[in-house]
Amino acid sequence: MNLPSVRLYDTLARRKEPLHPLEQGVVRIYSCGPTVYRYAHVGNLRTFMLPDLLRRSLEYLGYRTEQVMNITDVGHLTDDTFDRGEDKMLVSARLEKKSPEEIAAAYTEAFLDDIGLVNIRPAAHYPRASDYVPRMLELIEALIQGGHAYVVDGTVYYDIASFPAYGKLSRNTPGKLMAGHRGEPDPRKRHPGDFTLWKAAGENRLQVWDSPWGPGFPGWHIECSAMSMAILGDRFDIHTGGADNVFPHHEAEIAQSEAVTGHRVVSVWMHGGLLMLSGSRMAKSAGNFFRVTELREQGFDPLAFRYLALQAKYRAPLNFSSEGLAGADRAVRQLRERVADWVRGERGADTPDREEWDSRFRAAIADDLDTPRAMALVAELVRSGVEPATKAGLLTAWDRVLGLDLHRGGKELSLPDGASALLAEREQAREAKDFERSDQLRDQLAAMGVAVLDTAEGQRIKR
Ligand code: AMP
Ligand code: ZN
Repeated sequence: MNLPSVRLYDTLARRKEPLHPLEQGVVRIYSCGPTVYRYAHVGNLRTFMLPDLLRRSLEYLGYRTEQVMNITDVGHLTDDTFDRGEDKMLVSARLEKKSPEEIAAAYTEAFLDDIGLVNIRPAAHYPRASDYVPRMLELIEALIQGGHAYVVDGTVYYDIASFPAYGKLSRNTPGKLMAGHRGEPDPRKRHPGDFTLWKAAGENRLQVWDSPWGPGFPGWHIECSAMSMAILGDRFDIHTGGADNVFPHHEAEIAQSEAVTGHRVVSVWMHGGLLMLSGSRMAKSAGNFFRVTELREQGFDPLAFRYLALQAKYRAPLNFSSEGLAGADRAVRQLRERVADWVRGERGADTPDREEWDSRFRAAIADDLDTPRAMALVAELVRSGVEPATKAGLLTAWDRVLGLDLHRGGKELSLPDGASALLAEREQAREAKDFERSDQLRDQLAAMGVAVLDTAEGQRIKR
């Protein structure tokens, strides 16, 4: 099969590059996931939407995808830029008077609920960092053996001077790292920019593992090297994260993984732009954030946030405002109503230029996931003189990428939470002729009160 070519912006190359999956037709993706110490805010969700959009686009274009998203449940320090502070999990455990495991379980569940609300389809694998400590110990051992790491008082540091390419992703040089350092440098580090691979337990008695250097816990960066390579192997296609992960997190990941393997591991690095709120980055720590459930309580459709995000280029920073969200909310509801009208309307002949419209949509998403262009095309189609049934057909098809539940119609047709993700998956299964899976999904949907009928135009739902 001849798959269309896709161009993606690679943060490392600093330009759009054609995607060449290592295995023909299959794209393997590792995405930095949540630190499960608090609820995710819509800024986090924007970053998690990037790999979802990527997968939906690639699948629309005929590729298969396999996505891994890690769950960080240990080792992420409160001041990760400067490699200091306390483990975020322990801070929450103390504040909420629970064990770190209870904290992790509760916020992992909340995370999965939240992504469902914005139609982010679940990843194939959700490895938890705490399950991969043995693999991290192996990597750290290899780094010490290779002269890339050193031990001081039970803590292991990565020696950035040992990896000349350090800084290639973020363009930070060891000199700049020195200049940018804040506060007193850690006297145990050879260079202030060296980062922690393994941290001696110290006072921490809650999340501690034995290691050749004494009891301790892993650093956040080594977790992603360990989990990505354990599941996807030492070469995979795409790594995603938020713009704030470029440095230090992904710079460190490259230094770790490439020093151990001796070669490039990730073919394309993709980063999503940050969500801003009144001029500053939406952040859990700064307290200026919204959860998607809060938006819902304010009467917004959670997918209005998705609509808002799709109108911007995924790489660009995006300003979040209630006015912007309200506009998106109106627009998405209106679009659904029009689709419902067109579906109910007279069925005429399919417009002959359907293929041309679809190929324009495909071209937009294949060009570095250009959703503003795709959304402009949606608006153009809505205004056009194209036959209503064709409009409805095209928009329903495009919605496999957009994920806006455009088939939902007016309020009375609204679906229970999670149903639309199952419907999308079922559509995919049917297309792949995986009828066993599609039957399973139909049963699951039926249990939620959503009856699915298979018609020549695809699946139709009845509540
Ligand atoms: P955390 O749960 O804190 O580890 O964050 C999860 C992801 O959310 C990370 O990959 C960050 O890059 C991303 N993130 C954090 N703040 C924002 C923001 N304001 N806008 C977009 N992404 C963000
Ligand atoms: Zn990561």
